[in-house]
Amino acid sequence: MNSRIKLSIFCLPPLRTLNSELSTLTTFYPGPSKVYPQVATYLQDAMNEGILSQNHRSAAFMEMLEACISVFKQKQNIPDNYEVYFTSSATECWEIISQSLVKKHSHHIYNGAFGEKWFEYAARLGKTVSATKFNFQEIIENNFSSDADVWCFTQNETSNATQIENSFFSKLQTDSLIAVDVTSSLGGIALDWQSGDIWLASVQKCLGLPAGMGIMICSPKAIKRAEEIGDHNFYNSLLFIRDNFRKYQTHYTPNILSIYLLMRVMQQVPDIHTIDAHIKARAKNFYTFIGQETNLDLLITTREVRSETVIAIQGSVDEISVLKQKAKENNIILGNGYGAWKDTTFRIANFPAIEDWEFDKLKTLLRQ
Ligand SMILES: *Cc1c(COP(=O)(O)O)cnc(C)c1O
Repeated sequence: MNSRIKLSIFCLPPLRTLNSELSTLTTFYPGPSKVYPQVATYLQDAMNEGILSQNHRSAAFMEMLEACISVFKQKQNIPDNYEVYFTSSATECWEIISQSLVKKHSHHIYNGAFGEKWFEYAARLGKTVSATKFNFQEIIENNFSSDADVWCFTQNETSNATQIENSFFSKLQTDSLIAVDVTSSLGGIALDWQSGDIWLASVQKCLGLPAGMGIMICSPKAIKRAEEIGDHNFYNSLLFIRDNFRKYQTHYTPNILSIYLLMRVMQQVPDIHTIDAHIKARAKNFYTFIGQETNLDLLITTREVRSETVIAIQGSVDEISVLKQKAKENNIILGNGYGAWKDTTFRIANFPAIEDWEFDKLKTLLRQ
């Protein structure tokens, strides 16, 4: 054997992960969640194209950022006059709102853990805060009033698998800014952008990307408010972010890889209305399946408030523990129940990167 052949024994061929059916693990975890299998190729492309070695004030980076925002807005059907910024996480967007968009007072309307966390962070950031907590089994009522200049909602409450319908936001009558956390629904269902002023999310849920970047979308009314307030005190003050993004630059050295991957995934996926139809049909099908073909229950008893992107399923402690064990043996990862529901529920992400055959595999497991 010559040395060249010997060497080749140690050089394994690249893993073929493009066909996701080849990978053995199926995950329904609602964040971080399944990454699009095509990302493997995009990672290699990012290396080959040299974009990762470019500095973030270079023409190559600026062109890429512009292309990314453009295709993102196009695929998500975001109005032309709304602006898109990238941050480090959805949590950072909560902070930016309190710092740069709340004049005096934010009011938080929530029914679960993420909405509550947002309220708690806001309370520590020095502005006045107040909250209306509503029952997660009930439809949110449109009859509260508040003097707060920013009203904060969690459209899809990942912890308890509930959602607020688009029509709720379009009926709100107020001069206050409407801020909406859509971390676990952006990219999965169509949102009515015109009925909100600040929309925030991160990439590791419905967008099917590796964790590590947040997205903030602002209406002209939100930008105007930021200008009136004129906050420039923080590295992530919105006006400072905006000054940079208007030049297709960023306020700090950004996650260039994540921006690149978002651009590629947005080029790959269909229009949000196509995804929306698929996700909603699959949610409906799966909710019916749980009721008709298993002994399990749905955590959320009110049909109208059930999330279409995160589904929570309830059973006895024994049933859930047996199911989780069986899932593990079959290389399926179920999402743990949140907080107090840890032992009596599990959650299923109905995100676009998860394929229908994976849901079939899950159904086979749950039927047994
Ligand atoms: C996951 C999640 C967050 C937190 O996202 P990060 O990217 O970790 O900051 C906030 N809100 C909701 C509704 C979420 O599901």
